[in-house]
Amino acid sequence: MDRDQLVEHLRLAAELGVAGVSRDPEWRRRPAGASAPTGEAESLGSRPSDMSHGQASGSLEPTTPGVGPRRDEEGGAPRAVRDERQEGSTAARPDVNSAIVLTEIRAEIGDCTRCKLHGLGRKQIVFGVGNPDAGLMFVGEAPGADEDVQGVPFVGRAGQLLTKIIEAIDLKREDVYIANVIKCRPPQNRNPEQDEVDTCEPFLFRQIDAIKPKVIVALGTFAARALLRTLDPISRLRGRVYDYRGAKLIPTFHPAYLLRNPSSKREVWEDMKQVRRILNGE
Ligand code: URA
Repeated sequence: MDRDQLVEHLRLAAELGVAGVSRDPEWRRRPAGASAPTGEAESLGSRPSDMSHGQASGSLEPTTPGVGPRRDEEGGAPRAVRDERQEGSTAARPDVNSAIVLTEIRAEIGDCTRCKLHGLGRKQIVFGVGNPDAGLMFVGEAPGADEDVQGVPFVGRAGQLLTKIIEAIDLKREDVYIANVIKCRPPQNRNPEQDEVDTCEPFLFRQIDAIKPKVIVALGTFAARALLRTLDPISRLRGRVYDYRGAKLIPTFHPAYLLRNPSSKREVWEDMKQVRRILNGE
């Protein structure tokens, strides 16, 4: 089956109400009616309405922290800790197909050669990982060496610290979704270049639109600048909450920065408490 056929196939499956797909042979044998495992979009490929550059709905105007529920959210338990797959029929759950949309996006990316990074030593595409219906999404800069090998974002030292940060607000890594602005490792971990960002970020926007998180945490200067379309440094951007693509965006320091500057963990903790408050609907 070629990629177009696969996309068509998945679209049809979505119309039929299929809530998830996986390559895992075990999954095919699961009993009828059993719920799909979370993160199946990740397992299909293991590393995963276009919005072009100028169309990002991000606003640089900070909003009052904790302003009401967004889009399809009516408050209550944070989406990140809710098992929506067990809460009723497909019709009652508009987000039920986000896993399939993510799978479509991943299929469309394919073995990408759209920018020069494919020829500069990257091993594989690092699409994103986590709960397709997450209420909380983290966006980093680009995969590093460990991520390039494993095909999963934030698995190196910085990733281990990110996992601790997630757990500090009583969530598990599997509850949230984690992605990067850039899906391929830049050589020698250099900063991504503008043409690479321009080529890759529409896929991130589509991931955000599929997941519809309540909160997005931009990790570090690069991600915050790319998402908010600003040249301000993270030190100026953090401490405020921004409206972004229907979510609340909270910029904070990158975990790799925290490894070098542990005293900044205090500010990150403040930011994460803000995340928790918004997820709680406070
Ligand atoms: N740093 C990032 O920004 N992203 C990763 O996936 C890993 C490290």
